Amino acid sequence: MREAGLEVSRDDAGNLFGRRGEARVWSGSHLDSVPNGGRFDGVLGVVAAIEAAERLPEAPLATVVFRAEENGMIGSQALRERPEAFVELHCEQGPVLERLGAALGVVSAIVGQTRGTVVFDGRADHAGTAPMEGREDALVAAARFVLHVRACAVGEARATVGQVEVEPGTVNVVPARVAVSVDARAPTAAELDALVESIGFQPSWRIEPAAMSGAPLAAVEASLPEAPRLVSGAGHDAHVLAAAGVPTAMIFVRSLNGGASHSPRELSSPEDVAAGVDALTTVLSRLV
Ligand SMILES: [Zn+2]
Repeated sequence: MREAGLEVSRDDAGNLFGRRGEARVWSGSHLDSVPNGGRFDGVLGVVAAIEAAERLPEAPLATVVFRAEENGMIGSQALRERPEAFVELHCEQGPVLERLGAALGVVSAIVGQTRGTVVFDGRADHAGTAPMEGREDALVAAARFVLHVRACAVGEARATVGQVEVEPGTVNVVPARVAVSVDARAPTAAELDALVESIGFQPSWRIEPAAMSGAPLAAVEASLPEAPRLVSGAGHDAHVLAAAGVPTAMIFVRSLNGGASHSPRELSSPEDVAAGVDALTTVLSRLV
């Protein structure tokens, strides 16, 4: 950051800033990762923002490194001050751009998410002596529900069962009770409501979707008129800023290896990264 002509500071939450002048426009991402993670998630957006700042030596702006994104976006949620515009460059972490043959994508929205648990009650019986007729097998009911959850996710919606707890969980006992997790995501609040309704579960946790908007989105769209529009199915610091009312945009850089992420197989090519930095530089030059 210092080599890029930025003044380095840190806030109480541990977020790191590199500022130049009256920095109303910010760009950045995070440096933390997950165990056995990749080299691009977060880091790419930080390095790209510093590089863009170096290429715009007169521009008043800030590069930011948000603390602990992977632990629940702790740093971006603890911000004491917010910018007038925020742009985050990030690897896609999915296969869409690779399938489309596009180096870069414009994020239109970040999905809202709900999570909850659905419990199925049945009756424990002896696996050998209880006739098939008349059983109340909680896992059979839960299995039908898992397929139903999958069928409910149409269009940009996503719905996943990732955890199943079976009681008593014994090979020779008909399952008496099954708890099934649900993770349901959609790009707008109305679509999320409809998804929850069609799945038929009571979410215990919900985070609203966030649309990309304002001058940052206009600048990204103007800089990348041919790039595909994508909905981000993963959360980002940009989600937190957008939810707080900051006009926010995101640029996605193509992930290779089938979109592998949170894995050492995470990869973006040097050419795509260079195109991303060029685009980010153009966007920031339009915003400052
Ligand atoms: Zn990330």
